[in-house]
Amino acid sequence: MVHNFSAGPSILPKGVFLEASKAVVEYKDTGLSLLEMSHRGEHFVEIMQEAQNLVKELLGLNDDFKVLFLSGGASTGFYISALNFLKTRAGYIDTGTWSSKAIKEAKRIAPIEVVASSKDNQYKHIPSIPSDLEGLDYLHITSNNTIYGTQFQDFQALKTKQICDMSSDIFSRPIDGSKFSLIYAGAQKNMGPAGTTLYIVNQNHLDKDIRDLPSMLDLSLQIEKKSAFNTPPVFPIYVSMLNLRWLKDNGGVEAAEKRNAEKADLLYAEIDRNSLFTGNVEHKDRSKMNVTFTLSQEGLENTFLDLCKQANIVGIKGHRSVGGFRASLYNALPLKSVQALVEIMTFLEQSHG
Ligand SMILES: *Cc1c(COP(=O)(O)O)cnc(C)c1O
Repeated sequence: MVHNFSAGPSILPKGVFLEASKAVVEYKDTGLSLLEMSHRGEHFVEIMQEAQNLVKELLGLNDDFKVLFLSGGASTGFYISALNFLKTRAGYIDTGTWSSKAIKEAKRIAPIEVVASSKDNQYKHIPSIPSDLEGLDYLHITSNNTIYGTQFQDFQALKTKQICDMSSDIFSRPIDGSKFSLIYAGAQKNMGPAGTTLYIVNQNHLDKDIRDLPSMLDLSLQIEKKSAFNTPPVFPIYVSMLNLRWLKDNGGVEAAEKRNAEKADLLYAEIDRNSLFTGNVEHKDRSKMNVTFTLSQEGLENTFLDLCKQANIVGIKGHRSVGGFRASLYNALPLKSVQALVEIMTFLEQSHG
């Protein structure tokens, strides 16, 4: 068995891959591959419907929320979110690379305010949020910082309407939907394969007439067209749906949160115990999805990577902009993969510490 700690595209349950592969050959008993069917035919319409329902059910969202599966990645979401919600003033919290990119794209539409940032601390913590954020169209946050390994532990402090890039921790824990105008997430971290981007929109917060929007980037139009204004990415949506079914069958986001905490606690405990390793970020803001750490002794990096390779542990090199190591613990990663990694870390200390 390979232990896949990749940050994205990332691990999905084996059963999901199996079922998805069957549908490529023949979908149900139709004599057709899913990939050659009309996206307006009954089979795909059913798949889209089930995927949208599962998103709402798993996150406990009411009918104010509409679910879209669009293309373009979360990186297009940076622009789409501002385009559809930014009138005069928006606040952004800068917690790393992805937040900075969101800020850059939003600035194309109107000046925005960075109301809190941890840039001066190399993004090693989540900054505290000013309490006087009146009059903003929205506050934009990145719930989990995939590259640096920090995460908002909850959203209680956030009072304003929020837009949230939840690409790397959506479905990893319960959320209070009422706090959000829009949640968006690239599929390929914790939901499905690359190729579709999830938008969860509170339609009451949308202003159809905000500006003359290009059709493909117009969330109101996409809602009206039930996420099929053009040909949607049928296969990534199907695989995402299968994965959401798997999540539901395994106790939903509440159970996922427990499993994710167990995995993260085990790995952070070893990082803190082991004299060779140091965690990158402040303890209180540690991410349960992306655990970042470094070796405190020079010259052992390749030895550690070799040991990992021998143990079939893949995808633990840190992001190229940060270095060190990163172990991503998304929903589908089993506890035994974390146990395998911890064993290697312990062995390295015993043999080289
Ligand atoms: C990966 C990631 C992105 C970029 O996603 P794409 O789908 O590749 O555009 C944006 N935000 C966060 C938090 C991410 O982890």
